[in-house]
Amino acid sequence: MSVLPILRIAVPSPLRRCFDYFPPLHNERALFPGVRVRVPFGTRTIVGVLVEVVEESSVAHPRMRRALEVLDDTPLVSSALLRVLNWAVAYYQHAPGEVLPSAFPTSLRRAHPPTARVRDARFHVTAAGMSVELKNLVRAPRQAALLERLRRYPLGAAAVDLDAGIKVWRPTLAVLIERGWVEAAAAAATMSATTFKTDAEPTLNSAQAEAVTQVLTVLGQFQTFLLDGVTGSGKTEVYLQLTQRVLVRRQQTLVLVPEIGLTPQLVERFRQRFNLPIALLHSGLTDRERAQAWRQAQQGEALIVVGTRSAVFTPLPKLGLILVDEEHDLSFKQQDGFRYSARDVAVIRAREERVPIVLGSATPSLECLYNVQQGRYRHLSLPARAGEATSPALRVIDVRRQPMRGPISRAMLDAMTHHLSAGHQVLLFLNRRGFAPTLLCHACGWIARCTRCDSHLTLHQNSRQLRCHHCGAERPLVETCPDCASTELRAVGAGTERVEEILAELFPGVGIARVDRDSTRRVGALETLFDGIHALRYRILIGTQMLAKGHHFPGVTLVGVLNTDQGLVSADFRAGERMAQLIVQVAGRAGRGERAGEVLIQTHFPGHPLLRVLLESGYAAFAQAALLERQEARLPPYSYLALMRAEAPQSEAPLRFLNAAKEAAGITRSVQLLGPVPAPMEKRAGRYRAQLLVQCNNRTTLHRFLDEWLPRVEALKVSRQVRWSLDVDPQELY
Ligand code: ADP
Ligand code: ZN
Ligand code: ZN
Repeated sequence: MSVLPILRIAVPSPLRRCFDYFPPLHNERALFPGVRVRVPFGTRTIVGVLVEVVEESSVAHPRMRRALEVLDDTPLVSSALLRVLNWAVAYYQHAPGEVLPSAFPTSLRRAHPPTARVRDARFHVTAAGMSVELKNLVRAPRQAALLERLRRYPLGAAAVDLDAGIKVWRPTLAVLIERGWVEAAAAAATMSATTFKTDAEPTLNSAQAEAVTQVLTVLGQFQTFLLDGVTGSGKTEVYLQLTQRVLVRRQQTLVLVPEIGLTPQLVERFRQRFNLPIALLHSGLTDRERAQAWRQAQQGEALIVVGTRSAVFTPLPKLGLILVDEEHDLSFKQQDGFRYSARDVAVIRAREERVPIVLGSATPSLECLYNVQQGRYRHLSLPARAGEATSPALRVIDVRRQPMRGPISRAMLDAMTHHLSAGHQVLLFLNRRGFAPTLLCHACGWIARCTRCDSHLTLHQNSRQLRCHHCGAERPLVETCPDCASTELRAVGAGTERVEEILAELFPGVGIARVDRDSTRRVGALETLFDGIHALRYRILIGTQMLAKGHHFPGVTLVGVLNTDQGLVSADFRAGERMAQLIVQVAGRAGRGERAGEVLIQTHFPGHPLLRVLLESGYAAFAQAALLERQEARLPPYSYLALMRAEAPQSEAPLRFLNAAKEAAGITRSVQLLGPVPAPMEKRAGRYRAQLLVQCNNRTTLHRFLDEWLPRVEALKVSRQVRWSLDVDPQELY
């Protein structure tokens, strides 16, 4: 008697396990892992992913339910990608039903077959169409325009590509097809290598050439590289030339970026270099746009796929290379739900797909540098700025006892005047949006606090609101103190809005651009600001992290960092690393044109050892010093952490649960459990929060411990009184 196959399926549920089903009756489709299956779950019917076909189940046969339908003829994800997803389930200790769907757009998480696609044809120019002289079409300008546009897509243009550029094209297209100049078909199979190139490639300098050669020699194999080069040293050029070589092999390149909106220049440079459709995958897309881009990637039609975090899970049948730009950026870490690091998953993906991966940064994370030291990653260094630009000079302004205008020192104002009168631009960085961090009553000491969090409300003058930056609560600005009715309410400290106001008063007539999450909320607002900056309509730029990332501002010759002290005195062991990365990244915005830049950093701690190493010897020396500190303190990357968080509306419940969880761990010598303690911000959005830190010197030991411990925690009765989660490799201990 043959054994019945049993389908092990990841169903969308927060439970950390798969569910077993009998195969559907009358199923004619093959049971490949990676196909979607429609199954009953509770009283509903949902779509799950087949993870494995097994012969035995722990579920008693009479209780096991039957799957309803296999939805795909072929797996939507390859076995390599399925291994990556399964790795993520085990490594991040997360529910498979929440991890596996990361590989699909939301439309496919419902029961529609993927064949129900809209307007999927591609149109490409035939040889006859290629030889048409456009100037002979003066009497048919629409045909000329459409033909000209279609010629830019050697792989064929999809309807969306045409929609984007031309209002009415369908009737014209019909004419072109009739004349035999255009064909509608699946993706064109033949192209010559030269079709990819459009604008001229600069000749690489020797460091760039060495980096490209090193990666090219391992195409088709797994190897991780750290591309370590200051801003402007030519990393993007290395990405472009590597991509070119991968395109010639008809393979796909996956480019991961922290945030698309903040790095439009990278996407633009790929667009300009390669006349190919680029599939963009990021959170700003509609479901339909995402499904379309996903399909182009999954079908192997898009050879270049650029995306944020979750794009690391996109099925790519012809993957040849992975590039991760700004690998140190915190945006690669998902901070809620399925808490994964897209950079780390990308390395696993490269390993499973047997392709090289390049992690690029001007300020590599300490983890990456450690992996280089351990010989796991190869170091590619671009020591100098490409082209003409020289590196900026960094200097500290000791603000102790100095006269200040808000958060701006006299010395900073003098430097600004100097650079502005020379006709240049000035960039000021302040890591706090809004007008002021809080509102204080001068008469009685009342402070505007959030009622749902342990935090102050931030004053937003323009919108006349008090806002909580932690839970999003908003209240109208009050004119009188709610406690003593005094009208002497004062703004304490300063945010970007207040700096803007101060500068408008001090530099009348000088255009000021404020770039933060408030000023860029409207669609297109960020682009408008950046356009104005490039057109020199704005001479003073004031902003938060949003200004620190990826942008070239060739007219900026002075960068001022207004507050570094938070990073120097924080309790978070990563704060110093973050501060250093931020200073170097902001500094990289200056002097990218012909003129050398100047960077001034205000601090109350001019003698802080890490700050001094950074300024005197640079980021690499800083990183070595910081790694030494981590090693002495047995902190990551010299140890491994997992953070269990719990929250509940009742103040005692989280600690009670975490104490029980700690007890459930029993006595372990290889793993330390630190805490539980209330979270640094104990109350947030009306819920009390606490945390328990798990620390271990060995990654395998840590995971073996988690594998045994979590099922016991799940079985705890008190676990139902809280919301809890586990964060493996936490980036923030909050
Ligand atoms: P990064 O990505 O490290 O910031 P980019 O690749 O953007 O650096 O290079 C900075 C500038 O130098 C860009 O304007 C780029 O076009 C130019 N550039 C890069 N490599 C070269 C090269 N080999 N020769 C001339 N110019 C280069
Ligand atoms: Zn008062
Ligand atoms: Zn709040």
